[in-house]
Amino acid sequence: MNNTDETIKALRSNGFHVWFAKNKAEAEKIFWEEIFYVANPKVVSWGDSLTLHSLKILSKFKELEGVKLIETFGEDLTWREQIYNRKKALSCDMFLTGTNAVTIKGQLVNVDMIGNRVAGIAFGPRNVIIFVGVNKVVENLDEAMDRIKSIAAPMNAIRHTDLKTPCQVTRKCMDCSSPQRLCNTWTITEKSYPVGRIKIILINEALGY
Ligand code: SF4
Repeated sequence: MNNTDETIKALRSNGFHVWFAKNKAEAEKIFWEEIFYVANPKVVSWGDSLTLHSLKILSKFKELEGVKLIETFGEDLTWREQIYNRKKALSCDMFLTGTNAVTIKGQLVNVDMIGNRVAGIAFGPRNVIIFVGVNKVVENLDEAMDRIKSIAAPMNAIRHTDLKTPCQVTRKCMDCSSPQRLCNTWTITEKSYPVGRIKIILINEALGY
């Protein structure tokens, strides 16, 4: 059994519903046909994820009738409105996001700056949809945290040019005390509760950091 098969098997035995997509186009098709139109959510929101942004899903919501999309980011929203919306997003019907890492034991590992993304994964939205590329699959929790500190977090800091952290220069984690530190809350999601609440589309491409 290869790493991907092992990961899918472990995720399923941990109560996650899992789909495997050979590419982004197939991931989008799975999302609409096998998840979205089955769950039929009325209120949808999302947590920041480069993998999610690389798909043409969020933009499509703007054309859909009968579905309210709670925007959690955007230049047309004030900071106060963004925070207000991120709180409202925790009671939506469907929350879309990514994960920083997934272990072959079937655990999701994340670190978050503000906490709205990990909060939405842990509790609140009736359905959580995680889009993740196979590049995020790691052996175990130690490797997941190493990967996040050495790749995901510094690269995320670099793309947020409005923030100031030392890793934007060093390109590796300096375990900083910056007031704008991105790494504030770690979560390990070992199982989905209830079973099937968290749905994962594992995409056979390298996506995000
Ligand atoms: S702890 Fe600070 S230095 Fe380390 S990755 Fe996070 S923001 Fe960068």
